[in-house]
Amino acid sequence: MVDLLLIHPPSYLRFREERRKYGPIADVIPSTPLFDMYPYGFLSIANYLAKRGYKVDIFNLAARMIMDPYFDLKSYIRKIEAELVGIDLHWMVHASGAIDLAKSIKEERPELPIMLGGLSATIFHEEILSKYDWIDLAVLGDTTEPIIEKVLDSRMSIEKMREIPNLAYRDGRRIIVNDIVYVPNNLDEFSIDYHALFSSLARSSEPVWWIPFADFIEHPIGAIILFKGCKYTCLGCGGSAYAYSKYFKRRAVAPKSPNSVVEEIKSITDYMKIPIFLVGDIRLIGMKNMEKLLSELKSERIDLNTVFFEFFTPPPPQSLVNDLASLDAEVFFQISPESHIESIRRYYGRPYGNEALENFISQSVHSDARRIDLYFLVGLPKQRLEDAASLPRYLFGLSRKIDKGRIEKLDFFVAPLAPFIDPGSLAFDFSEKLGYRLKAKNLEDHVKLIAGSRDWRDMLNYETKWMNAGEIAKATYISGRGLLELKKELGLVNSQAAEEMIAKIDSEYIQDIMEKETVIPEDLYPSVPIYSAIEGNISNVLLSIMKNILGLE
Ligand code: SF4
Repeated sequence: MVDLLLIHPPSYLRFREERRKYGPIADVIPSTPLFDMYPYGFLSIANYLAKRGYKVDIFNLAARMIMDPYFDLKSYIRKIEAELVGIDLHWMVHASGAIDLAKSIKEERPELPIMLGGLSATIFHEEILSKYDWIDLAVLGDTTEPIIEKVLDSRMSIEKMREIPNLAYRDGRRIIVNDIVYVPNNLDEFSIDYHALFSSLARSSEPVWWIPFADFIEHPIGAIILFKGCKYTCLGCGGSAYAYSKYFKRRAVAPKSPNSVVEEIKSITDYMKIPIFLVGDIRLIGMKNMEKLLSELKSERIDLNTVFFEFFTPPPPQSLVNDLASLDAEVFFQISPESHIESIRRYYGRPYGNEALENFISQSVHSDARRIDLYFLVGLPKQRLEDAASLPRYLFGLSRKIDKGRIEKLDFFVAPLAPFIDPGSLAFDFSEKLGYRLKAKNLEDHVKLIAGSRDWRDMLNYETKWMNAGEIAKATYISGRGLLELKKELGLVNSQAAEEMIAKIDSEYIQDIMEKETVIPEDLYPSVPIYSAIEGNISNVLLSIMKNILGLE
């Protein structure tokens, strides 16, 4: 019996029963279009509670259902042995999956208490408890580890729950909401010891299915969150300063200290040589912290293999780019200009022009960095079809400004803003004013949109004043196709793979769930399969289970 079982649902629970055109909605992330990657919070909650003596299991149901066509959900539910079941509703794409999974569990096992958590669950907690009586409680806010500990200790006593902040629950027919007052101002308590965590998860009743996403075994990547909150407000972002302040009561960015970040990295890299993604612009932990972290990363304490740094705005043309690029590792930079058209970018909330962007690119390709990746979006306010479609032309011009010998240090991707602009974002709250037309306004609308759509175009929760759903899709394909042509011409991707993908785009085919539609997976993140990346001293149990699952022994 475990104290807490955390289950991650696919975005749509009945995906095996029907064919869908998923399109490019998950092309630039490690997940499939069923969004099988669970939020980082699962690991942090499991780690926090395990350190305090609680037994926690993570079950990635989405990954299991994708990889095991014979997996039977009902029999799994019958065997659950847990005091409390937690389901993530962090990203809105899990609206249908989370609600439906909770219902399936309650129908089979009415005695099991079911809790939802995550940013979307926080925004929609009233609707969750008023419409779905199979869900018992919702934990609120961006940091809920101590809240869940209190819930476990309460043993679901209403009397005790009255005293727990950041919690919504039912007392009979009444919905009680205890305000969000727990908003920690740093994250040190929540940093993760991955080695201890994975070793303990490997001893659980489902020893492999804690994997963060279905493709993790073949293309593993580790993520470390540097902070919570943001100082920017990009219009469609539910993790913006606006959303954090209004819905999660966070007024300032909460950083993780350099020491905690380093220990967290070491707990991965000492055992697995996998790429590490440092999530969030490193400058937002504060300049002093950043300098300390940099000097730690340069020290011999850490054996980095491949590391990704993201920037919210181009760093100033000083030493930061060279400092990061000169780490003893393959260093990748990422930046999301969203649009190559400055006015559209600035309106969306990215406060910089093309000159600053191109200076950053130039500095990066002349540094020791392995590559700089640019990410663009389709579906922005003020963006017309011809604006999005002209992206390949801009990038062609940009490529001409880069020495031939350095061009392989540049890469670029485009994706639709899909399927949803985030609830909690400015664009969601003030849609009409900002040029968006919403097709779904509450949780139930989103549940229906996901369940009822057979084509990704129909699943979008918005159109803009400048493009309808069909035009957003058309612009995405024109732009994505153009980028593949350009990458082929510049020698950035395998030409046969690019030609095959272009042919698939032209034929409007229906891709397999594990396939990307417009992006060649090897182009996205470099990686080696987990069984080659594991160092000898990681838990032998874990290694042999993984090999077993993969049929390697
Ligand atoms: S998209 Fe914009 S608002 Fe959202 S986290 Fe990134 S920089 Fe912050």
